[in-house]
Amino acid sequence: MPRGPLKYFFRLTGLLAAYVLTARLGLLMDAVGGFASLVWPPSGIALAALLIGGYRLWPAIALGAFVVNAWVGAPLGVALGIAVGNTLEACLGAYLLQRVAHFENGLDRLRDVFALVLTAFLTAVVGATIGVTSLRLGQVVSWSGYGSTWKAWWVGDALGELIVASLLLTYFSRFSVPLKRTRFLMETGVLLVLLVFLTLVIFGKIVPMDWQALPHQSYLLFPVLIWAAVRFGPRGATLGIFVASVIAVAGTTLGFGPFARPVLSESLLILQTFMCIVAITMLILGASISERKRAVEARDEFLAIASHELRTPVGALLLQVQALLRHIKKEGAPNLTRVRTGLESADRQGQRLARLVNDLLDFSSVSTSQAKLEISEVDLGALVRESVAQFQDHQLTESPGVTVRVDQPGNGFWDRHRLERVVDNLLSNALKYGRGKPISVVVGGDSTRALLTVSDRGIGIAEENHSRIFSRFERAVSGRNYGGFGLGLWIAREIVIAHGGSIRVESQLGQGAIFTVELPRARASNAHPLENNQLPG
Ligand code: ADP
Repeated sequence: MPRGPLKYFFRLTGLLAAYVLTARLGLLMDAVGGFASLVWPPSGIALAALLIGGYRLWPAIALGAFVVNAWVGAPLGVALGIAVGNTLEACLGAYLLQRVAHFENGLDRLRDVFALVLTAFLTAVVGATIGVTSLRLGQVVSWSGYGSTWKAWWVGDALGELIVASLLLTYFSRFSVPLKRTRFLMETGVLLVLLVFLTLVIFGKIVPMDWQALPHQSYLLFPVLIWAAVRFGPRGATLGIFVASVIAVAGTTLGFGPFARPVLSESLLILQTFMCIVAITMLILGASISERKRAVEARDEFLAIASHELRTPVGALLLQVQALLRHIKKEGAPNLTRVRTGLESADRQGQRLARLVNDLLDFSSVSTSQAKLEISEVDLGALVRESVAQFQDHQLTESPGVTVRVDQPGNGFWDRHRLERVVDNLLSNALKYGRGKPISVVVGGDSTRALLTVSDRGIGIAEENHSRIFSRFERAVSGRNYGGFGLGLWIAREIVIAHGGSIRVESQLGQGAIFTVELPRARASNAHPLENNQLPG
């Protein structure tokens, strides 16, 4: 048998087994109406499986849900209805997260945590409604029991997605040990022991506690869980929540702990509400810690690149000037050709330096949201011609030809200075990556929008890098061959978006690149101020 289908078969079987086992466990917990369990790990397993392994794993979910419900005595039609609901719930969850929320499995961005929380509660509505309606149609529950069964089903499914899916998703995504290995293992060990001990104290009966004196002892969990989230980010948070949750459910089921009531389903409902708050809080904390860590890393990387990039032209400029000074001092009458080539080279280094400094200034003004657009009427055709002329002044001898064509009068209401930055960035890229071949700039469009196209016949950009290169610090070339911060296109994109326009690239590796900027001519009503929260990447 080929490897692909065999692997698929094993995955299906593994998922089916995990689904049936955990579902059976969930149904043992005094399920409301016999089928609606407040503890329902399979919903989390199903969602994580589709997000990690793809939609094609859905048959295992459908079969698992059908088998387990038929096994505990649901009529076949009812089991089929429940299976449809549970499968739809998982597929809809995966769809919403991937397609709508552009979810990343590591849960290390706040937006992913919010997306997961919303999706969990929303899709559980689908599973609960189809499942409980099937039970009602099969006369397994009465109309009077519909509400309480639905509520238990909904809470169980949503929490399964929150607690179990988040654990699986974070552990199946990229991971680097944040500290030295032995320290990491030691700290994890101490943390786990403390967490297990505390949860047992709260939800078990290992230490006699005066429940009256300490009515809120469940909050003792917070410091340890916060420790896990702060030190280990999303993985620490999800593992901590999972461990606490398992012990808490077991203890409460045995009748211990602050949430124990005479009826188990009642105890579990209070416990699960508490766990829900704990889980959301810790997931948010874990993601915030990750985001902060990434911001610090990005800053350090940026400072390293900046100092490296700036040092090269400064060094070259100084060497050139010193050589010229020596030449002038030594010889009686300086050789004018020698002086001229020296000055031209110094000028090129100076220009390169100026461009890098401009990028840095633009970067800080764009990302600190100080920038406001200063709108006036601008002739894009004239602006492009001026920029090209300035470039050609400085490119001197080995400059490739740049042709400018204005098909449509280029007037519009824009920020002149910032538009110059867009044109400069696109032109300097076309020169830098254009392998010395001719470059063409076209200004066109219609009465409502202006189009600016900059085309070169240079190294081109592979398809998979097309969207990435517009993000901060993203480059598709090695720093050894081409200098740069990876900021030019990001700055251009921010400026264009702030004008209510768009920028795109068409290119293939080795085939040159065509960058097209589209700008509304009128004062754009959908223009945004340049600000941090709309930055990509
Ligand atoms: P930088 O040029 O400083 O690296 P940019 O943000 O201007 O930063 O460009 C990002 C990346 O996009 C570049 O590193 C390069 O890989 C790619 N790129 C941009 N323009 C072109 C072009 N005209 N031809 C080929 N690659 C390009």
